[in-house]
Amino acid sequence: MSETIFGKIAAGEIPADIVYQDDEIVAFRDLSPQAPTHVLVIPRKPIRTLNDAAPEDAELLGKLFLAAAKVAAHEGIAEAGYRVVVNCNAAAGQTVFHLHLHVLGGRPLQWPPG
Ligand code: AMP
Repeated sequence: MSETIFGKIAAGEIPADIVYQDDEIVAFRDLSPQAPTHVLVIPRKPIRTLNDAAPEDAELLGKLFLAAAKVAAHEGIAEAGYRVVVNCNAAAGQTVFHLHLHVLGGRPLQWPPG
């Protein structure tokens, strides 16, 4: 199941700067970082968008957030603070249709976002 670039990263078919992985999740650095720390956390399972997550994905979604917190701790941004973002579909700017959490930190982040 490697129909998107993230599916190919999860399958090991193209390289990425992986910071965490287990049997269900892969986390890697964004190619175009928007903050000093910008890591993407994805399920190996190819869910297109948050809209496509099903009730049986509930445990996996929880694990994605726990992995995001683990990444933040490992990156040393947990105490200062960080942001976890999921862009869903065009109006939010989603460009890769494989569900992913953006973990952003290492600088002050504006709220509300643009
Ligand atoms: P989104 O707009 O939420 O779909 O975010 C997609 C993100 O994937 C963007 O921040 C891109 O910079 C990032 N991206 C695209 N291709 C790659 C890649 N091969 N490796 C790492 N990050 C990527």
